Amino acid sequence: MTIVAVHTHLLEHRLETAFESASMRFDRRQHLLVEIICADGTVGWGECLGPARANRAVVETYANWLLGMNPLETEKIWAVLYNALRDQGQRGLAITALSGIDVALWDIKGKHFGVPVSTLLGGRFRESVRAYATGAFKRDGVDRASDNAEEAARYRAAGFHAMKIKIGFGFDEDLAVIRAVRDAMGDEMRLMIDGNHGYDPLEAIRVGRAAAEYDVDWFEEPVTPEHLAAYRELRVKQPIPVAGGETWHARWGMREPIETRAVDILQPDLCGCGGFSEMKRIADLAALHHIRVVPHVWGTAVQIAASLQFIAAMVPSPVRLNPIEPILEFDRTDNPFRQAVITRPIEHDEGVVAIPDGPGLGVEINRDALREFAPKDAG
Ligand code: CA
Repeated sequence: MTIVAVHTHLLEHRLETAFESASMRFDRRQHLLVEIICADGTVGWGECLGPARANRAVVETYANWLLGMNPLETEKIWAVLYNALRDQGQRGLAITALSGIDVALWDIKGKHFGVPVSTLLGGRFRESVRAYATGAFKRDGVDRASDNAEEAARYRAAGFHAMKIKIGFGFDEDLAVIRAVRDAMGDEMRLMIDGNHGYDPLEAIRVGRAAAEYDVDWFEEPVTPEHLAAYRELRVKQPIPVAGGETWHARWGMREPIETRAVDILQPDLCGCGGFSEMKRIADLAALHHIRVVPHVWGTAVQIAASLQFIAAMVPSPVRLNPIEPILEFDRTDNPFRQAVITRPIEHDEGVVAIPDGPGLGVEINRDALREFAPKDAG
């Protein structure tokens, strides 16, 4: 088999109502899909986490090496591409772009052998996964506490077992929101808080100590991801388990957080940390250090499908009769093309998502949606 073409598909939609995390304002949704075509007609799809135009430029750079290679040789391709940009790469866009390519190659490999990627990764431990709802951003023009509380009530009614809310806007405001959301969701639903690295360590300690009263499962990205010592400090000085990892890239970026136990829960992003090839290594390294992995997911149905394939193959840690099951991050925010990019949307049923069992990622791309959501300018 030979790779004969690498295409990128930039998708963009301007939102009617902008929303914010502690570190970013979203007035549009924008994602990049990668399409790799083989001489025999097999087509594979991947996605890159992060700024779509910047990822596109890096994917196009990698295409120089990809063309003519054998798509089944995923490990060799990973090494060649990593080496190609190593001197100026190693993390960030060099790895997010490589992630989209690697995911597309595994899609090809699954289609070639007629099995889902999860089987290629070693086997399916499960056919479905419980999803947690990610939402509760700060939206323009509404009272945040009552808005987030209404959202929590909706997720509860829809059957979700857990939801994650955005904090990092200041102690008083955040605590009011946490209180309102806990009231609306009741005692049984699980609650997670995500600071999007909006705090400094002193604020984060204060927030964690106060929020613990509301039974919080994890405190995600409390402080900036470069400051691993502050993560370790947070684990000691406040009672909520600390989570993070969506901005750490490849095995070298994950090594120190794992080996020094900077987090209780590691959140690598399949479409950001290096694709299936690297995610497997990272999950194994985390298991070696007995750190729980909950994949980060923020993208279209291509990323969701890829993450589902990985989750299906996640080895329980520890293996026991009733193991701790992985969970799926399920973004509920406004994004008109999230599910439109595939022909059969990936939906939840009472908070549970079935894992596709078709070849590769197990999904088919809807090319009409790619055209509909392509930027109207030169892009
Ligand atoms: Ca996050």
